[in-house]
Amino acid sequence: MSYLTVSISGCDVKEMSSRAVRAKSAGADLLELRADHIEGLDWEKAKHAIKSLLGTGLGLIVTCRDKSEGGAGDWSLEERIGILSAAAGKGARFIDCEYANFVRPGVREQITSALADNPDCRLILSAHNFEGPFDDLEGLRDEIKNEFPAAIPKLVYTASHINDCFAGMKLLEASSDELIVLAMGQAGMITRILAKKYGGFLTFASLSSVEATAPGQFEISEMKNLYRWDSINEKTELFGVIGDPVGHSLSPAVFNACFDSQGINGLYLPIQVQGAQREFDEFINNLVNSTDNGGFGFGGFSVTLPHKAHALEHVTRVGEFLEPLAGDIGAVNTLKLGIGGRVSGYNTDYAGAMGALCAVMGIEKHQLHQVSVAMVGAGGVGRAVIAGLAEVGAHVTIYNRTVEKAAALAEEFNCKYAGLDELEQMDAEVIINCTSIGMHPDVEASPVPKHCLKEGMTIFDTVYNPLETLLLEQAKAVGAKTVDGAEMFVRQAMAQFKLFTGQEADEDVMRKTVFGCLCG
Ligand code: NAP
Repeated sequence: MSYLTVSISGCDVKEMSSRAVRAKSAGADLLELRADHIEGLDWEKAKHAIKSLLGTGLGLIVTCRDKSEGGAGDWSLEERIGILSAAAGKGARFIDCEYANFVRPGVREQITSALADNPDCRLILSAHNFEGPFDDLEGLRDEIKNEFPAAIPKLVYTASHINDCFAGMKLLEASSDELIVLAMGQAGMITRILAKKYGGFLTFASLSSVEATAPGQFEISEMKNLYRWDSINEKTELFGVIGDPVGHSLSPAVFNACFDSQGINGLYLPIQVQGAQREFDEFINNLVNSTDNGGFGFGGFSVTLPHKAHALEHVTRVGEFLEPLAGDIGAVNTLKLGIGGRVSGYNTDYAGAMGALCAVMGIEKHQLHQVSVAMVGAGGVGRAVIAGLAEVGAHVTIYNRTVEKAAALAEEFNCKYAGLDELEQMDAEVIINCTSIGMHPDVEASPVPKHCLKEGMTIFDTVYNPLETLLLEQAKAVGAKTVDGAEMFVRQAMAQFKLFTGQEADEDVMRKTVFGCLCG
């Protein structure tokens, strides 16, 4: 059991009580009373708050956090330990004392005497490092256990990079004793969810982002609804999108909805990997080098900007298998972790783009042979699209703002190129936008002059936010066939799902989730 805990702070008992009621209805297992936040704290106020929170029927942790470890208020050590000791006799299931204070003269005696009188109450001994990871996490856990074997050690540190999470995840996964390990901050967010998979005693969630009591807490509704908290167990297979940024990604909603509807024991997470090749390699190596525990349970990743080329480089150098097409495109957007932790790389953007285009044209891929295509853009998506078009012998001209990039891509794939200003003279049956022009918030922009759009043409915009870009709106108005970026997104995600799970994705659920996210 990993308790999903909502930490309740507030200036007064009324505010705390209403938060506690909301936490219960949101599905919390435990409440943590942050008594240090109560204005004018005294034992009467604390007692009132404990009674009120216990009124929810949920188990209660009481803490009165020391300012030096992230607490509020200037309460003396004596006041704080007095509140914890008294809370043990008032129905708290746990009291949480800073380990650094517990070992101070007199504190241990006071707390152990309170616990001896109230055997239903347990002690959490916590250590917080707001500066970064602990030097010796395991040593600290052992020290706490040696000091007071009945305590539940709670080790909380700040992660400034996702790679800081692995020490905590490793200790938690290897431990069979009751233990709490969490990483704070945006970079540590995944540890708050994965605590359940690795058997952590509890994790914390917030009621809302403004009510969070530590940096990096997810909202409890996200934990429950988006990140499948209730379904997670030690066998849950993990997936995620590696990128920077990843907060805007539709993929967690899409994959988790499919896992849910298809009864698959999987979880898909946003994984922000800051940095370049070195940090990317370090992230993968942290997984691969943990072969004894099967890569922490990760089975595969979607890869997005800026790591598609880093993923290709990594797989080329040390991977197990590289899909030849991904090598031709120069980008890996899907990684699969195999037995022994070795990675294989694929590209599903290509299949997504070709599938979307052929579906709207009502043709098979080979029928694109000798079809004239104007492709606008020469970035990552452009590379996937041109690889597909070149393979079937379409007649492509690449138009790009930076003409040198268009020229280099055209040379690689043996086609024509031009600057964006030459789009006016374009004569093509199909136009594909592979730039970010028209993407939110720049929704009044279109990469193609309106008068170039004609009835009978097919216009494909890879941008999916908004769903109907100005380009597509204008194309529809002249009677052209249109296809949006969401169609490509769904198709590439379906191909990834198959690679990850070996099963077909529920297309209906995927589409509904994508459109639900994009249409609000
Ligand atoms: P990228 O590698 O950064 O390439 C961006 C392209 O857009 C380059 O050709 C760039 O031209 C051009 N560009 C950007 N701003 C421009 C401007 N103001 N004026 C003219 N050209 C401009 O990005 P990417 O990964 O290829 O992604 C491109 C777009 O594809 C994204 O914005 C996204 O909307 C869409 N996308 C869709 C999917 C899907 O599944 N539907 C997946 C990924 C991406 P320069 O070379 O001159 O810089």
